[in-house]
Amino acid sequence: MSRIVILGGGESGTGSAVLARSKGYDVFLSDCNMLTDEAKKILEKWDIPYEDGRHTPELILNADQLIKSPGIPEDVPIVQRVKENGIPVISEIEFAGRYDSSVKICITGSNGKTTTTSIIYFLMKKAGMNVGLAGNIGQSYAYQVATTKRDYYVLELSSFQLDGMYDFKADIAVLLNITPDHLDRYGYDISNYIKAKFRITQNMSENDCFIFCADDQITISHLEKIVLQAKKLPFSQENRVEEGAYTESDQMFVKYQQSEYSMFLRELSLQGKHNIYNSMAAAITGKILNIDNAILKESLASFTGVEHRMEKVLKVKNVLYINDSKGTNVNSTWYALESMTTPVIWIAGGKDKGNDYTPLFPLVREKVRAIICLGKDNRKLHSVFEEMVESMHDTLSAEEAVQKAYEIAKPGETVLLSPACASFDLFKNYEERGKLFKEAVQKL
Ligand code: ADP
Repeated sequence: MSRIVILGGGESGTGSAVLARSKGYDVFLSDCNMLTDEAKKILEKWDIPYEDGRHTPELILNADQLIKSPGIPEDVPIVQRVKENGIPVISEIEFAGRYDSSVKICITGSNGKTTTTSIIYFLMKKAGMNVGLAGNIGQSYAYQVATTKRDYYVLELSSFQLDGMYDFKADIAVLLNITPDHLDRYGYDISNYIKAKFRITQNMSENDCFIFCADDQITISHLEKIVLQAKKLPFSQENRVEEGAYTESDQMFVKYQQSEYSMFLRELSLQGKHNIYNSMAAAITGKILNIDNAILKESLASFTGVEHRMEKVLKVKNVLYINDSKGTNVNSTWYALESMTTPVIWIAGGKDKGNDYTPLFPLVREKVRAIICLGKDNRKLHSVFEEMVESMHDTLSAEEAVQKAYEIAKPGETVLLSPACASFDLFKNYEERGKLFKEAVQKL
């Protein structure tokens, strides 16, 4: 019997184990951290042997293939040894794709993946399609493939998922944008990261569609260098495009083959320049899938957004509090600040991933009145922004940050948590940071 070993027992790893088991493989799962009770329960239910707190080489190096969770870097010793032994290393999506004949709509990009994936899923549901939502979001793709039958999947793909993908093919691929992120995992070379993102187009034929941002210089210059069979459908807020989507004055226009769609930008439920991009990408997808214009309009006008992404929490004493805890890099925070229409008390900071804050300077000068640093080490923020704002404050918890904001914010202003940094110095993850922020706001 062919043996599959899975490294990492999170959502994607346990799902892969279940799928491999259901396909009759000899399966073993290994995680160097402790597994959650929930993961153990699933593995035990499906009779899958596992270990946690260690990687035992003898139980791993006898694999015929290895499925690596996207969170595990390529250069950890056990992965290196697996590779030295000539064992193919693939990702969950690659593996599950082999057993799934559905139409696959795949979304990647540095920012906006979850939002766009969720909009597309929302509008397909509204159109009554039998569609699953997976990838970096919700229940794992592999688990769903093992347990349900879908006509369509909308898959959010990170570059780490894409790294382990070889034969997988998307029917519709969306590449939202490329800005430097996660460079620590790509040898500090952006071209490796760009290539990883473009893996979303691999194996596509002329019957497939590639949706991309024509305003994104990095995307465009890479596209010029490669041969792509898929039909190219750009979206732009700068220029008109023949097929794809663009904005002109206060409207967005979508064209695909003979069919057209348009909508006033003010009708979009998600506001801000970045969300216009996300909505355009979703609308093109909708047109390709032949979704009715009325359903497109209704969906784009009523989608309520995703938690921790520019989420309006509450207005207190005429000050609006916004939770953008998922704004974990400079580019996403740029869009958050760009969409602000009032003076801002900006809560920023955390674990800096080598940020270059220069792109934010004009926005900070124009819109930010005060900065509240929420991080263990705020020296870099101070040295960069001290001169640009009225005041800066250091805090060490979400509650303290909200309290400070409450003290200094004036009626009509906005308190924006959009840290531009990862959360791991003070929080478990960005979700916890956002949740504690919201709780503190609710208590005001
Ligand atoms: P991802 O899943 O790629 O991390 P999300 O949809 O979770 O993206 O959004 C993360 C943050 O990025 C949001 O908080 C928002 O401020 C910002 N953002 C959303 N869409 C875009 C976009 N198209 N371009 C740039 N920034 C964006």
